[in-house]
Amino acid sequence: MKGEKKLAVYPGTFDPITYGHLDIIKRAAALFDEVTVAVTTNPAKTPLFTVAERVAMIRQATAKQPGVSVDDFDGLLMDYAKQKEASVVVRGLRAITDFEFEFQMALVNHKLAEDIVTVFLMPNEKYTYLNSTIVKEVARFSGDVSSFVSPEVQQLLKAKFGQK
Ligand code: ADP
Repeated sequence: MKGEKKLAVYPGTFDPITYGHLDIIKRAAALFDEVTVAVTTNPAKTPLFTVAERVAMIRQATAKQPGVSVDDFDGLLMDYAKQKEASVVVRGLRAITDFEFEFQMALVNHKLAEDIVTVFLMPNEKYTYLNSTIVKEVARFSGDVSSFVSPEVQQLLKAKFGQK
């Protein structure tokens, strides 16, 4: 914790950022003094967008939100969180299918850094089916993703897939 302030880190791939992620960011920003959205470089996921593109998209989408900043990190989340002096890690829980993996990760993370608490937030139910993979699949075949991502992200998806 930095002084009296509660700092939270919201880590993820964000490939690309969706309205589901933004819903979680909004909720986290209401709970904590500062929220850092932290884009992981995790190469195992072979992302569509580069880290710089993902960071820029999130910056654009959260520009008007006080207390929200965007960063990237590699290596262990808990090392990053300690370095930021964060006391909270935020994760989104959409469905029971998220639970097992998230539960395991939170327990391991707790072993690595006892003072950092993982907090799970549920999005509005209308985003519970949404993930970045689905968005990419629909966009790849020129489907309408306007209810999933911002107009800016829609444009960037089109550009990636060579669409007009
Ligand atoms: P994924 O885990 O699907 O690859 P991310 O790594 O970008 O996606 O997700 C970062 C965090 O945001 C995770 O905690 C994930 O559960 C959460 N999240 C992703 N999509 C949603 C959504 N639609 N609603 C709520 N939380 C979400």
